[in-house]
Amino acid sequence: MKLAILKESKVPERRVALTPDVVKSLSKAGFTCGIESGAGVESGFYDNVYEDAGAIIFPDKTPMLQDADVLLKVNAPTPEELQLMRDGSAFISFLYAYTVPELLSICVQKKISAFAMDAVPRISRAQKMDALSSQANLGGYKAVLLGANALGKIFPLMMTAAGTITPARVLIFGAGVAGLQAIATAKRLGAVVEVTDVRPETKEQVESLGGRFLEVQAEGVQTEGGYAKEVSAEYLQKQKQLITKHIADADIVITTALVIGKKAPVLVTAQMVESMKPGSVIVDMAVESGGNCELSEFNRTVVKHGVTIIGESNLPAMVPVNASELYAKNASTLLLHLANKDGFKWELEEEVTKGSLITHQGELVHQFTKEILA
Ligand code: NAD
Repeated sequence: MKLAILKESKVPERRVALTPDVVKSLSKAGFTCGIESGAGVESGFYDNVYEDAGAIIFPDKTPMLQDADVLLKVNAPTPEELQLMRDGSAFISFLYAYTVPELLSICVQKKISAFAMDAVPRISRAQKMDALSSQANLGGYKAVLLGANALGKIFPLMMTAAGTITPARVLIFGAGVAGLQAIATAKRLGAVVEVTDVRPETKEQVESLGGRFLEVQAEGVQTEGGYAKEVSAEYLQKQKQLITKHIADADIVITTALVIGKKAPVLVTAQMVESMKPGSVIVDMAVESGGNCELSEFNRTVVKHGVTIIGESNLPAMVPVNASELYAKNASTLLLHLANKDGFKWELEEEVTKGSLITHQGELVHQFTKEILA
């Protein structure tokens, strides 16, 4: 099997799909790894290190793509990249298939098999392939650092001869993967951390990390497989009442609330932003799916009512070394699950294959994507 690794073309992006270590183990397993020259530079992996690991470096991506069996990327291939790929070949990348119908049409027309990293089921045996979690974990860490950097205060309690500095207060919405890492990071830096989540089972996890759980006394939440599925308007109203006072006291608010398959819920209204202290900071991690804060702007940092609102959509790309290392492990584990050096196994009813395969043999085969696009 011939693999192709491209330099990511999306902006802002600094990650690369395979690292030299992973190239080495795939080469040992009999795969041929082609790398577009410079693909790993932004993550600190230079061409010569890939070459030493067994890769072939291509100064021009066209012949590499035309000859490859599988393209591995972080972000979805562009239409131009798909057009260069061989009919009947395959790719593995983040795709968010229901948002890119135009790419799916090209895949169908060229009989390209598209595997979406974001659609790998969140089941225990697929944990090593779970790139959404590996990247959200790093994103949660970086969100706290960005917030801390923008705040004119320090995090820890400090007693000095000139007086006592009180610790910063951090309020976190959502205690999923990103939120839990944000709690751990903010606690390590010495902040007082408060957290709200609609799933009651997260209370114990929050408290084990030293956070204080703000519990909404209301019914109206449906959960499924560790995700919030449906949150009623009544619940959101009660949550708003509870949160209002805590927001006004917070120095940093980090929002990570996600309801699967839906636009992000608006949890921080313009009025709440207005109630915050001048100089405080909001980091809206859900900005790509519409934002949890009414005033956040996609890929921009804005100041509204004296509050800095950070809407950075690609936090993992700000720690490209670790993000690429973890992504490369996730993607190569999926590849080795699906294929060996001689080709794909095509076990179409197997859970991970079925969950992540979007188009195959000229058809859109992914049930969830079909339903959303219908
Ligand atoms: P996750 O599903 O693990 O966690 C989301 C949490 O939000 C869940 O615990 C859920 O119960 C909670 N939630 C839902 N509705 C809520 C509400 N009304 N109030 C409080 N909590 C609520 O998801 P994740 O992997 O942690 O990702 C979180 C978000 O961060 C997603 O929107 C994801 O797309 C985004 N993300 C952004 C970046 C970035 O660079 N900005 C990077 C990675 C992930």
